Amino acid sequence: MKAIVLTGRGRDGAAFRDHPKPDLRPGQVLVRMLAASVNRVDLYMRDSGAGITHSLPQVMGIDGVGEVAETGAGSHFAVGDRVILYPYEFCGTCRHCLAGEQPLCTTARILGEHRDGTFAEYIAVPETAVMALPREADIHEAAALGVAYMTAWRMVFGKAPAGPGMSVLVQGAGGGVSYAAAQLARRAGARVIVTTTGADKMAHFAAEGIEAVDYRAADVAKAVLALTGGDGVDLVIDNVGEKTWGASLRALTRGGHLVTCGATTGANPSADIARLFVRQLSIHGSTASNVEEFRRLLALFVAGKIRPRIDSVYPLDRTLEAFDRLEHPDRLGKVVIRIADPA
Ligand SMILES: [Zn+2]
Repeated sequence: MKAIVLTGRGRDGAAFRDHPKPDLRPGQVLVRMLAASVNRVDLYMRDSGAGITHSLPQVMGIDGVGEVAETGAGSHFAVGDRVILYPYEFCGTCRHCLAGEQPLCTTARILGEHRDGTFAEYIAVPETAVMALPREADIHEAAALGVAYMTAWRMVFGKAPAGPGMSVLVQGAGGGVSYAAAQLARRAGARVIVTTTGADKMAHFAAEGIEAVDYRAADVAKAVLALTGGDGVDLVIDNVGEKTWGASLRALTRGGHLVTCGATTGANPSADIARLFVRQLSIHGSTASNVEEFRRLLALFVAGKIRPRIDSVYPLDRTLEAFDRLEHPDRLGKVVIRIADPA
């Protein structure tokens, strides 16, 4: 089969080439992939992969949708069923799995990180990591849910849930997770302020009813305090890292919460411990979401209440161009890979 295969590190480490079609093991379904999306973590896998145990060559890609092509004995699925993939293989028996926290599974394996991923014509995955997707759902939009929207869901509705009457600052809102977080927080009835830059993006958010601060033109913390009458926001969503960390802490109201899921610009900012305890701030780390949160996200999407924004769509053989698009400053929303037409 054709796939985007990682054979080494760096820009030349990934290529469109032939790769063995996976065999079906007990408890698995074989999925013919229709669409997937590219995520920052794909670039991390290509360029570094530090801290990840896996063996190359390995198929890239973490999320996606497809159609069941083959099932094992006693399967709940039938050939031809449209499905969306939950990106974790989890054991189902460790204390974290039993508590419903599959991303904390002690033996979790993430598609495209620890095992073959979704940028391929076929993937074999455990049935527990597959959910039915209605045929009328847009496959490009659905392909954007598995990493970006799922990660954003837990950040917005996790330990410090956003809701009506609350204010939320989302840093770097052009990115996939951040854009999704702004959409979800707004859907929950919160006041949303984003940081971004460039006339087109500023205009886009204004048209969406979202207040935007141009981080190149303004001191972000001061601007947010001015917008909130000197109070600050209840919740900050920040996956930018070192560059935005200080402003994120200063933009919080007393007792506010900062949620982080990434560190694109560096992972070791100043902790500002005095500010943390005097103002009783909380910092939460967040990764992915559990199966139940993913089910709720899917239900909201299927009901038409949330529509992922698609920046662009590339065919599988041009995935390397899609990686470049992910880093382009004009990008707004998700970059999707189209793999095959539905049957
Ligand atoms: Zn487990």
